[in-house]
Amino acid sequence: MDRKYCLSLLLLFASPFAHGGKFFAAAGKVDITPDLKKETVWLAGYGAKGRKPQGIHDRLYARAMVVSDGQRTVALVGLDSIGIFREDVERMRRLLGWNGGERYLFISATHLHSGPDTLGLWGRFPGVSGVDKRYHRRMIESIAGLIRDLSSRLEEAEIAAAGTILDPRGLCKDSRDPVVIDPELNAVQIRPKGRGDAPIATLVRWSCHPEVLMRDNFHITADYPGELCAHIEGKNGGACIFQSGVVGGLLTPDSDKTKQSSERQFSESRRIGRKVADAALKILQGASFRASGDLMFESKILRIPVENSRYLLFLPSLTFGHRLMDREGRSLSRLAPYYLALRHLVFFPLPERLSPWIETEISRVRIGPVEWLGIPGELFPELALGGYDGRFRFGHPLIGPSNPNPPELAQAPRGPYLRQKLKGKHGILVGLANDELGYIIPEYDFQATRGRIMEPRPSGTHYEETNSIGPSATRMLMQAYGEMLD
Ligand SMILES: [Zn+2]
Repeated sequence: MDRKYCLSLLLLFASPFAHGGKFFAAAGKVDITPDLKKETVWLAGYGAKGRKPQGIHDRLYARAMVVSDGQRTVALVGLDSIGIFREDVERMRRLLGWNGGERYLFISATHLHSGPDTLGLWGRFPGVSGVDKRYHRRMIESIAGLIRDLSSRLEEAEIAAAGTILDPRGLCKDSRDPVVIDPELNAVQIRPKGRGDAPIATLVRWSCHPEVLMRDNFHITADYPGELCAHIEGKNGGACIFQSGVVGGLLTPDSDKTKQSSERQFSESRRIGRKVADAALKILQGASFRASGDLMFESKILRIPVENSRYLLFLPSLTFGHRLMDREGRSLSRLAPYYLALRHLVFFPLPERLSPWIETEISRVRIGPVEWLGIPGELFPELALGGYDGRFRFGHPLIGPSNPNPPELAQAPRGPYLRQKLKGKHGILVGLANDELGYIIPEYDFQATRGRIMEPRPSGTHYEETNSIGPSATRMLMQAYGEMLD
């Protein structure tokens, strides 16, 4: 792809570093569980079509903490959802009047696989959206309402952060070679200034797909992040915000899920959620709190092409929650998705000059000692950490002995990797942040069969390519982060 398009970054807005202002904060949650009598939702995740929910096991929430230095304000939201698209985030910002200026909304999804379809990929049939418009509108308005409410009742606060390596064995594993598991657990706590008894919020970031509950589950549940947050809120009070880290690759719960009863799956979800929660609370003990510091945010728009053959075929039903445009950024007509999909189907493949492009957002937030980097999708952990030398394999073979198509590690990118570039001790990489582009795969191992629906797949594990916007996105995103962090 042409380099000048890789550099087509438009600065959205950046708030310069403040000079040690006091912190003010508030946190809370809003129930976003679907009403199964009034809202026709389909469960998202697994395969190409949704599952009709039969009941509710536990409630879904959007949880938020709003922090201000009196001048600038940031809202960090953790959403029990498979993912959220950029246009929805923009809609929330419009509802709040937060499009630019001194306020910034940073929302990330837990990537839940037992909640409503919010991306339009899991309806009754493959290629048919499972999004219920009433539910979707209510979810967006509820989140905006929560942030509005929290912004009106900020109190003076102090913040602490802690991080550790949590041995993933028994908690999370990697289903694709090379085995690279992100073991970093981050925790942040905010409490009223000078009062250590009741936190306002506890934020936990960890990397693993919330899919302890499998495709045979037909009950709505927030999976292990729900258990994690309920455990922390029950023990400590305040709101618990869960942020998903780098889950591509694919990081999945280390529990024997095959042939398990529903009760066993739910008890596994509880076990994993509580274990990670307790580890996060433990590292926060003794952490030192600061009542003032920098508050900064920066956000950039990045234009990238839709290259995935399947996505092109389903353009009319998959709006991606993005406006389609050409490579120069001019909006395409409303009929373009139909025309392009037909052209792709009949005169396969769609020529590169006709590829639709979309805009996504990358972001960086700093509050006192903590710095967040928002990634608009599911980053492969090796792009964040490296680990091609086996340092993050945790007892598993780096390459499975029976892998028929092992990755060529000699071609793998060399460091410094993204986590190292985010130099701070309390650097937090958050996936599915402000957008969901699917998997962000190292280019050297991006293998997809040339075909209308990318089937059959290359041998070995190459499922992630079918749910990725394309290989160019990785190069463009990595370059953009490099520029942002330099
Ligand atoms: Zn995923």
